[in-house]
Amino acid sequence: MAGRWRRITVTTASAGLVLPAAGLAAQAHASPVASYLSVHCSAGARTLAPPGSHLYPDTGNGGYTSLHTLVHLVYDAKSNKFLPGNQVVLTDRATQCLTSFSLDFERTSANASAGPDMSVQSVTVNGRPAGFTFVQPTYPGDPHGQNDPNPAAHEASQTNPVGGPHHNPLPPACSPELRNTSVPPDSLDGTQCPANKLVVTPPVPIRSGSVFTVTVGYTGRPGVHNDGDGTTEGWFRAPDGGFVTTEPVASEDWMPLNDYPVAKPTYDFSDTVTAGRTVLANGALVSVKRNPASGEFPGGSVTWNWHSPAPVASYLVEDSVGTYHLTERVADNGTKYFEAQDLGIPAKQRKKNLAIMNLQQNITEFESQFNGTYPFTSDGVVVGTPPASFEEEMQTMITFAGGFINTDILYHENMHQWWGDNVTESGYNMTFFKEGMATLAEFLYHARLAEDKAGGPYSPKGQAAFQATLVKIFNLIYASKSTFWTVAPSNPEPVGLFSGSSTYDRPGAAYVALRQILGHGNFTQAMQQIQRTYGGSHITEPELEAAFAQWLPVRTTACRARLSQFFTQWFDTAYPAGGGQHRPQITGPGLDGPGFYNAGGGCS
Ligand SMILES: [Zn+2]
Repeated sequence: MAGRWRRITVTTASAGLVLPAAGLAAQAHASPVASYLSVHCSAGARTLAPPGSHLYPDTGNGGYTSLHTLVHLVYDAKSNKFLPGNQVVLTDRATQCLTSFSLDFERTSANASAGPDMSVQSVTVNGRPAGFTFVQPTYPGDPHGQNDPNPAAHEASQTNPVGGPHHNPLPPACSPELRNTSVPPDSLDGTQCPANKLVVTPPVPIRSGSVFTVTVGYTGRPGVHNDGDGTTEGWFRAPDGGFVTTEPVASEDWMPLNDYPVAKPTYDFSDTVTAGRTVLANGALVSVKRNPASGEFPGGSVTWNWHSPAPVASYLVEDSVGTYHLTERVADNGTKYFEAQDLGIPAKQRKKNLAIMNLQQNITEFESQFNGTYPFTSDGVVVGTPPASFEEEMQTMITFAGGFINTDILYHENMHQWWGDNVTESGYNMTFFKEGMATLAEFLYHARLAEDKAGGPYSPKGQAAFQATLVKIFNLIYASKSTFWTVAPSNPEPVGLFSGSSTYDRPGAAYVALRQILGHGNFTQAMQQIQRTYGGSHITEPELEAAFAQWLPVRTTACRARLSQFFTQWFDTAYPAGGGQHRPQITGPGLDGPGFYNAGGGCS
């Protein structure tokens, strides 16, 4: 409860360096250096969310770019605690002269049993001690600044404006942390946001363009974040360690970071943990070293080093610790495949799981036919035991919870390695873009099964069965009624972000229609071009739509306009309930609905 209901904590920065506009006049007689800094340097933005955002508007931090992160856990698996020496080293590049900057870190939670309970011991910038404090987020775009004294500027809500018991007309500063999935979604609207912004004030301002390192030392118990839909994500306690699965925002429940999808540093992990435990992280395993007994680890410890040369988005950082059985295999093309299962899973189930895990290379090769070359040097799966309510596409180390894996979802999560992981959404309101692609992978899997049954991929009957399956799935989805079409995929509330048809089936069906509109070859070409252009980075909705538009076979003004309408209808429109006329009225050739082209093959 400590952080959650607090009133605003106003940051006091080093005298003369942090100046809101109103303070400039008062500094007119300061020394020339101080004057220069006060005019040219300022605090970094404490959010990356656009103004008006109601999906996790508290996350992300501006004024710098995240380049590399070294995670150095010192973790006692028995007590589930980070010990002294535990730290992260963040290497960033300033994009402005910074008097202060922020990180996201939920060190305490209202969830007293499974939430985090950590404290920051020290913060240094370029090796020199820095000031730090925790503040509440302010709604993005607040004209009164990041230290707005108005308590209404720091409230949680599912929607914009906040509403709530006091009819707050301002946008929300954070998304509610619902205690469970059965409480009313709007029950926390209008409550104060917790102080999860870690504001760091370096001893001297950081010049624009310079690369700097921030080291945060912290100890205590990592935990889970209570999400806007009442589920939890983050560091789940396992009997023998921790299981990390964190979408959308709970990396900050086990480490301080720039917690926004577009912040994609590369990673090194050097984790010292209780002897006998295995560490699983992104990228490839570099080394394992046993350490003798120490005061902190009377039974000895072991240090695991993992390295990810590819940048990793905020919600895809993996760092589980436990009694995992880990194997590594190198495929003919050089890709490393890691497989890990918790030894707490009964042996019989582990064997069943392994048979599915062993499909990963084959699935990767199948999905490569659509997406192009696999983007990373390794891939992997971990099956853990905690009952997390979802599976997740952690980069190169897909997490399955509850001791089980299934093939359908492995196709889904593996597809995310291209869509979400390599090409990341530009914000939470684009979650539909990558979930739609991963849902498409499930459709493709079912089409593949039908294809195999009908004679395989090289037989005309097999190919016909593949296509017929996709058409059948589209038509089934397009026939949906009730509330299926009532939320615009690009404008969900936190409560429905990971459960609604708007995030999964609707954009998945849209991609099937798009494949019919562009032609199968062009659709594949478009996907591969997007991977080449935006891989390792992120993509916005206009960029995504423009990339597909380039592959329209009929590139008239009328067809371009119709494709633009297609995207608006499928991605951006909330329809009244019922289906029928209340659903997209542009589909694709060979599919139910009005199609796309006219009888002459044009779009007039
Ligand atoms: Zn997904």
